[in-house]
Amino acid sequence: MSRIDMELFIDSHCHLFNISDIPILQTVIDKEKFVLEQVHHPLKALLLPAVFFKRKFIKKQQYKFISFFESEIETNARNIDKSLNITLSDENHQISAGKKIITPLIMDFDRNGFVANGNPEKIKSQVVKLVETIKREDIVSTIILPFIAVDPRRFVYEDWSKEDSKLLGEGQISTNITNYINDFSVKTAINDISAIETGDICGIKLYPSLGWDLFPSDENILKSYAIVLKKLVEFDVPITVHCQKASFELGIDSDKGNEFTDPFKWNKLLANTALDLKNIRLNLAHFGGEEGVKKIADFRYKNGESEEKCPYGPRKKGWTYEIIKLIKNYDNTYADLAAFDWCDKHAVASLLWILFWDGKQDEDGEFYQDNSPNHKIINKLLWGTDIPMVLDAYRDYHDYFSSFFRAIDKPHQLEGNDYEVPAANKRYKVSEIINQLACNNPKRFHFKEN
Ligand SMILES: [Zn+2]
Repeated sequence: MSRIDMELFIDSHCHLFNISDIPILQTVIDKEKFVLEQVHHPLKALLLPAVFFKRKFIKKQQYKFISFFESEIETNARNIDKSLNITLSDENHQISAGKKIITPLIMDFDRNGFVANGNPEKIKSQVVKLVETIKREDIVSTIILPFIAVDPRRFVYEDWSKEDSKLLGEGQISTNITNYINDFSVKTAINDISAIETGDICGIKLYPSLGWDLFPSDENILKSYAIVLKKLVEFDVPITVHCQKASFELGIDSDKGNEFTDPFKWNKLLANTALDLKNIRLNLAHFGGEEGVKKIADFRYKNGESEEKCPYGPRKKGWTYEIIKLIKNYDNTYADLAAFDWCDKHAVASLLWILFWDGKQDEDGEFYQDNSPNHKIINKLLWGTDIPMVLDAYRDYHDYFSSFFRAIDKPHQLEGNDYEVPAANKRYKVSEIINQLACNNPKRFHFKEN
């Protein structure tokens, strides 16, 4: 195994919030089928939001996941840093990185979580707590650059706590979002990594399934949200939006959550020339997840005779295909692979076929888009873990990364039903994939560096 030398290693998707940041009451109301009597100790109720993130009940392997939510941010940051260092220096990976960066994404639970139940907003205290903790110099060797949440409802209504509040005018909306960006000292138009230090807020997180439709049918609301987005484009900040089915919803059901999050809506937004959003620097998080990716490959048994399932794809429709169109058609769009299950052979094989079908640099490939820059998918994917969300299935950062490394390097060895993978000489090498996902692509997304 040769050594992989990287200027930077960037994880573009993780979280550092804990239980005090997550609304408990609304989470419980949403999951009304849950029988509270099953919880024997009153303090266990504090763990419910963590558990509900996964829509599952507590199993032993989830202890680490739940424990993350009751731990201090400092503890979690230290653990990620330690595990990341072990990960890179592991003799199986042999990665040397000049700088290590993680970008914990902050979520704005206020509108449908806290405010809806008569509590004051908590976004400020959430950010202050995170930034103050990580800015203490001695904490970690990894550079930590948070992304601040933006809930567009916050800026477009006279009183955002009320469902039927009046929409504000364009000037006031622009002022509101500008003030928010300034109040949190968000670094805008960054193009020099060396000027950045831990605690600098370097991007925006959007999470539609917390209760807002990113392409609402009401023209006026659509235009108001677009003013917020346009302002973010002007500020030239990277934006990560949750973009897979199965989200954490608040105050809405999961069908609505999926509808609000659908990448089809981003295609509509960016294609709308009047809104002028085509230059948005956007990471469509999760790439549609394993289920979206599997739909493209469309695996079936060959006439029932072979033991191995073969891909009948590419099937050019569905959630992941909408994301593929976005990343091929626009210069500044990306998709991270956070929370991807690298032990799922079906999903891994599908992803490898997508990269294969997309073709080499000098070929158009199967996903060719008319009248488009046709960016290669391999140049638009980002490394991300979604820690702590994967800690119910993976022990730590090292375990998650090792599973990714093994899956890309030796996909044949993955357990499970046999899914055909492209031949080794038709696949990208693991070193190429790591360099693209964790260095070259995020350098462009976060810092506009080529
Ligand atoms: Zn996430």
